[in-house]
Amino acid sequence: MNIDWRFDNSYARLPHTFFVEMTLNPVQEPKLVILNKELAKELSLNSEALQTTEGIQELAGNKEPLGSRPLAQAYAGHQFGHFNMLGDGRAILLGEHLAADNKRVDIQLKGAGRTPFSRGGDGRAALGPMLREYIISEAMHALGIPTTRSLAVVTTGEMIMREEPLQGAILTRVASSHLRVGTFQYARRWGTGAELKDLADYAIQRHFPTLQNENMRYLKLLEGVIETQAQLIAKWQLVGFIHGVMNTDNMAISGETIDYGPCAFMDQYDPQTVFSSIDRQGRYAYQNQPNMALWNLARLAESLLPLIHQDSEQAIQIAEQALQQFSKLYEVNWLAGMRLKLGLMTEESQDIALIDELLQWMQTNEADYTNTFRAFTLGEFENSALYEQETFKQWHKKWQERLQQQPQPLELVQQTMRQHNPAIIPRNHRVEEALHAAAQGNLQPFQQLLKVLTQPFSYTTEQEMYAILPPASSCQYRTFCGT
Ligand code: AMP
Ligand code: MG
Ligand code: MG
Repeated sequence: MNIDWRFDNSYARLPHTFFVEMTLNPVQEPKLVILNKELAKELSLNSEALQTTEGIQELAGNKEPLGSRPLAQAYAGHQFGHFNMLGDGRAILLGEHLAADNKRVDIQLKGAGRTPFSRGGDGRAALGPMLREYIISEAMHALGIPTTRSLAVVTTGEMIMREEPLQGAILTRVASSHLRVGTFQYARRWGTGAELKDLADYAIQRHFPTLQNENMRYLKLLEGVIETQAQLIAKWQLVGFIHGVMNTDNMAISGETIDYGPCAFMDQYDPQTVFSSIDRQGRYAYQNQPNMALWNLARLAESLLPLIHQDSEQAIQIAEQALQQFSKLYEVNWLAGMRLKLGLMTEESQDIALIDELLQWMQTNEADYTNTFRAFTLGEFENSALYEQETFKQWHKKWQERLQQQPQPLELVQQTMRQHNPAIIPRNHRVEEALHAAAQGNLQPFQQLLKVLTQPFSYTTEQEMYAILPPASSCQYRTFCGT
């Protein structure tokens, strides 16, 4: 049976500095844990064939798919502010698959074994974190947030050593590319001027093809990435997503969310929320995400300087002007999204104050971020003492008055709110519960959670149990990366 791969490996045609060719690292006994049939279909791949022994061999890195050209990408990155040479230490890019509409996607095996960039690591990944990436990335996609996707997870039949022995697993990650801010940092630091230009032209061709013949196209590339990141981070903030490890190697040029390590969704609204156990300073706390994105974009700008203008002083000035746009773009996107969450269909000058007052109230009262907007959407204010408070009633009155000022019918307002306020998000305790069962070989809770998370705006009764808040103890929820 044919999987219908249609590989065309443009990254492998870049100068050799950008990658190391790989032979695959086979594993003992691959077993399919989950296959994303819908995604396979979107990519014009044959799900039936992917589930056969031969298909599973390919998803495990035991057999090279026809037309693939396995490689490990070279990149650098600022990790918590410190610059390092990194590269794919546990991921192998099989190549780029062209779907029926000629949409080009990277097919990458994450957890596929050692590469020349592995340093001390084993190049492997554990089942829990790979399933976690699978479910959260698919949930993000369903929330309408640009993200890498997950095609499959297989177990390797090999144990890997972490704090305890864990089942090894490989995730097939699908991305519109794996170009990162860190790829440009690598080119600037270790590549020649011509190689940097090749990389920039390549990124333009892949992600901003309309710029290909423009003068000033490298500046426009920078501006394009600034814009897509401003849109992306606004979307994260609007659903309470905390990435957790916004290092420059984890910021994609495509504008997709990438690298689901210690990420998590905020429960009660607190701008200082941090989940990652390694983020002791709160560098990547919820409220810092826009600033950290800008910090990363400044690193991209620095890398592109020689292409922006031959005079370095002028290049800096031009780049700084471009970077100044970020905050404005972010604010515009965020405010537009917040208005929709509250059903505000027109723009009034008092809206910002109305929103700020709500957020302040939520923070003071430790209100759950998602469920507050969910209650607004459903018009359900009965079940919580929170909404009996005088401060809330005052705010609610202002909001209702504001809604009445706009001409749109209530039905349209309600419909809009439903489309912008998810009924459910991947609650940490639910995800953990599903992963725990999966590790024991019971995939049913995972499948069920996945099903509801991929319809976050449908407000079905089936979803209600997933909207229930975690027990108080999981408020100190911590995430870990590196497994
Ligand atoms: P991350 O924090 O996930 O962005 O990863 C940072 C760097 O560590 C990247 O270069 C990864 O490829 C590398 N890395 C993470 N886990 C492993 C592992 N188990 N073996 C080798 N390299 C790894
Ligand atoms: Mg990474
Ligand atoms: Mg990672």
